[in-house]
Parts: sequence; C-alpha cells; structure tokens
Amino acid sequence: MTHPFDALITVADLDVEIAALERSRATLPARKALEELAEVASAQERTQQILDAERLPLLATLKSLEEEAARLATRERDVRSKLSASTGAGRDLAAMDAEAQRLVAMRVELEDQELTIMESLEPLEAKGIANSAAAANTLSARNELLVVLGAEDEALNAQIEERRSKRGEIATTLDAPLLTRYETLSSRLGGVGATRLSNGQCGGCHLSLSSVELDQMRKMAIEEIAICEQCSRMLLRTEQLG
Ligand SMILES: [Zn+2]
Repeated sequence: MTHPFDALITVADLDVEIAALERSRATLPARKALEELAEVASAQERTQQILDAERLPLLATLKSLEEEAARLATRERDVRSKLSASTGAGRDLAAMDAEAQRLVAMRVELEDQELTIMESLEPLEAKGIANSAAAANTLSARNELLVVLGAEDEALNAQIEERRSKRGEIATTLDAPLLTRYETLSSRLGGVGATRLSNGQCGGCHLSLSSVELDQMRKMAIEEIAICEQCSRMLLRTEQLG
C-alpha cells in the first residue's frame, strides 16, 4: 500500500539534495580560487597605479626637457648658419659665437637633467614590466579557471534542475494544504520543512526526543503529523511512510 506521506518525504528528500547541491555550487574550489585571483589582480592594479604616479610626472618632465633641448639645438644651428654666412664686424661675429656656445652649454645642462631622470625611471620601468607580466599571468589563470568553473557549474545546474523538475511533479500530487504547510515551514527552516523520525531522533535537527514526546507520538492517529519541538519540522513516523 502507499503510505500517506510518501510523496511529502520524497519532496523533503529532494529538497535536502537540492540544498546540498546548491551549497556545493556556491563553494566550488574554482569559485574560491577566482575570488583569490581577483584580489591578486586588484593588488597588481594598485601597484601599477603607484608606479604610474611616480613614472608619469617623470616622463612628462623628460619630454619637456627633450623639447627644450631640441629648441636650443635649432637656435644654435640658426646662430651658426648666420655666423658662417656673416661678413659683419668681428665684434658681432664674436657675440654670435658666444651665443652659440651659451646655447650648447644650456643644452648640455638639459641633457644632464634628462640622464638623471632616465636613471630614476629605469627601476620604475623594470618594476612596471614585471608587474604587467604578473598581471597577464593572473588574467590567463583567471580565464582558465572561468572555463573550469563554467563546466562545474553547468554539471551541478543540470543535477539541480533534474531534481527540481522531479520535485515539481511530485509536489503536484500532494494535497494543497499539506504542500502549503510544508512550503511555509521550509521557507523558515533552511529549505526543508519535513523529516523522518528514526531511532527516536529528528532527522532535521538530529536531537533525540524525550520518552514523553515519543509516547505522545505513538498515540497519534496515522494521518496526524507530529512536530519536532526543537526545530519545528514535521516529523514523519515509520508507520506513516513506505
Ligand atoms: Zn528537529
């Protein structure tokens, strides 16, 4: 014979399985590893920002020094070409030559400053290259993990879906008030509102019932559902189940 609460306990068993599968899905090692990689990636991004904060002003200064040096070189060329074409007084020629030499001295000074900046830039650029390489490794590890996680998620989703659809079918065979009662309890009790009483223990909270409670249950009618005093789940007795 079919027992009155077989369908209810099957729904409850499926809910236990679904909850366990959902926990597995939420705690997949690949998901955890991806979270850790995201932290590594943001640390690498911060490192890049710190390096850029030092690098970029130095690069800007270097650029303006180079531009200034180029302007000086142009002026020097102009002065020298005037000088070579000039037939003016010796005093003017001497002044032009002095100007050309002054321009050279200024350019040499700028080039010294450029060298100093390049020396400061060198270790920053090296760190930047190393950091970029590490960031690229993080990205490829992340992409590999995404593939792994995608496959694992898909497998678990299929298992969850299969149980949900079975549960849906069985739930329609339950009396509406019993199903409503079960669903109300389930939503309060972590997804599972009914369980078995076995060896004097509640299958939900695993606490043993007192002999007084067990005695009361023995006197209950077969269609009457006991409730666990500890966890409030519906407790189905052996004689109620197949
Ligand atoms: Zn209980």
